[in-house]
Amino acid sequence: MAAVAILVVTAAWLRFQGQPWWCACGGWNLSSWQVWSSHNSQHLVDPYSFSHVLHGLLFYALLCRLPLSRGARFALALGIEAGWEVLENSEIIIRRYREATMSLDYFGDSVVNTLGDILFCALGYGIAARIPVRASVALFVATELAMIATIRDSLLLNVLMLAWPLEAVKHWQMAIAGG
Ligand SMILES: [Zn+2]
Repeated sequence: MAAVAILVVTAAWLRFQGQPWWCACGGWNLSSWQVWSSHNSQHLVDPYSFSHVLHGLLFYALLCRLPLSRGARFALALGIEAGWEVLENSEIIIRRYREATMSLDYFGDSVVNTLGDILFCALGYGIAARIPVRASVALFVATELAMIATIRDSLLLNVLMLAWPLEAVKHWQMAIAGG
């Protein structure tokens, strides 16, 4: 119930802020794998979905010792993720992304993409709850490396570039933007 409420409130908030429901292209393919296109973060699934699975792994690690019920910890994790999504789609962060990172065309996520992100976070959380810690760590590292190898961006790189933009990294990321 709490999880559904979080999804509904997040969707309503983003709509209120003027984010579109769906990609402006109007195409109904559920996924978009073109990171350097206006379709990124607009369809349901894209390469960044994997970084949201990693959010789920991290939240599980952070919250699993809290003296709350399993349901309450899960709802808290989704609440933090939804809060991050709302922040990420605020004017300040969108502007910062576009100035400091490779996200030149970034105007914020579509509502459906954001709900997908939260669901992928829930998936990561569920995975972490079921597999050993070492397996979660391995999954985290493998996902980071796979993302860096394929799209030259990842959760950790994203955080780094948002907090402390490095020109060299930006050039390296932009180098494959054309092809
Ligand atoms: Zn599109």
